[in-house]
Amino acid sequence: MSKTQADSQRLRLFIPGPTEVAPEVLQDFARPPIGHRTDEAGELIFRVTRKAQKLLHTTQTVLLSTSSATGLMEAAIRNLVQRTVLCAVNGAFSERWYKIAVANGKEPVRLDFPPGKPVDLEALRNALREHPVEAVTVVHNETSTGVISPLAEIAEVLRDFPETLLLVDAVTSMGAVPIAFDELGLDVCLASVQKALALPPGFALCAVSDRALERAASVPNRGYYFDFILMKEYADRGQTPITPSLPHLYGLDHQLSRILDEGLEQRYQRHLRMAALVQNWARERLALFADPAALSPTVTAVATEDKIAPQDVLAFARKHGYLLASGYGQLKHKTFRIAHMGELQEQDIQDLLSTLDRLF
Ligand SMILES: *Cc1c(COP(=O)(O)O)cnc(C)c1O
Repeated sequence: MSKTQADSQRLRLFIPGPTEVAPEVLQDFARPPIGHRTDEAGELIFRVTRKAQKLLHTTQTVLLSTSSATGLMEAAIRNLVQRTVLCAVNGAFSERWYKIAVANGKEPVRLDFPPGKPVDLEALRNALREHPVEAVTVVHNETSTGVISPLAEIAEVLRDFPETLLLVDAVTSMGAVPIAFDELGLDVCLASVQKALALPPGFALCAVSDRALERAASVPNRGYYFDFILMKEYADRGQTPITPSLPHLYGLDHQLSRILDEGLEQRYQRHLRMAALVQNWARERLALFADPAALSPTVTAVATEDKIAPQDVLAFARKHGYLLASGYGQLKHKTFRIAHMGELQEQDIQDLLSTLDRLF
């Protein structure tokens, strides 16, 4: 990506959100507001919805939310769970969904996996046999540890539990990893826009299945701001219940076109190539934190194995214009993270890695 003058002092973002935004998309955020109840805004919302449906391979409902993804994580719980939900926890973001269920007075069952590991299918199946629940929450790509869980296989397990909805956090996979919402039979798939979708933060979207909307209709106390039924009613006429972030709608319209124009398959392959560059580099110099069978295509947690302090790597990178991410929580002193998602190209990754090489 090219740099503008004003951009030259800013650190380049290799963190798992916010990510770099294409300069031409950034300009959409300077456009003047229009009336959000006009036909023009309606057409904009319908266009964004159709493009998001293409991205997620769905003909079902897409809801647009002026919030970050966490708002939609809470929405999924409030709309679709009266009492019981099973939360698969294999890192900080999947744990967040459990905490949200607790905070909303639900009775979540927590199914833990060691950090660095994906969701285990047999353990999930056994837990569902033991605990009949209304829904399961899963984080597709656990950003805190750089682990991707096998979504298709998880969806297959859920097919044996037809009363249980499958709620998926795809915050750091949507736009970087294929997600076939209808084919897999997902019920909610949500993301915020500042990760692999590569827009400034402050907006989120989700696909919601017809059966999830039916379920929501029977759930009391769904709240107002994130009421899926109300959001769907407005979405059907090209509106949102509240005043939406119009700049984000402009930006999404443009960016989703760029993503579809790149070609979804090409975009997914580019992410795999960027991931391989970082993974190979990390293996040669240091080590990988995550289970080698579940390495994330969008973010890598590098284990420093006492060869170097993670904060020294971060400080060196910063001095050379790059912002990397520290390890999450307890992993702070053992790992650092490099994100390779969104608008970054292989050349950007190579430039970063050859700079970091001066440390070794
Ligand atoms: C960043 C992130 C979130 C939180 O997203 P916000 O937009 O900050 O609410 C949730 N889940 C995953 C996997 C993430 O990476």
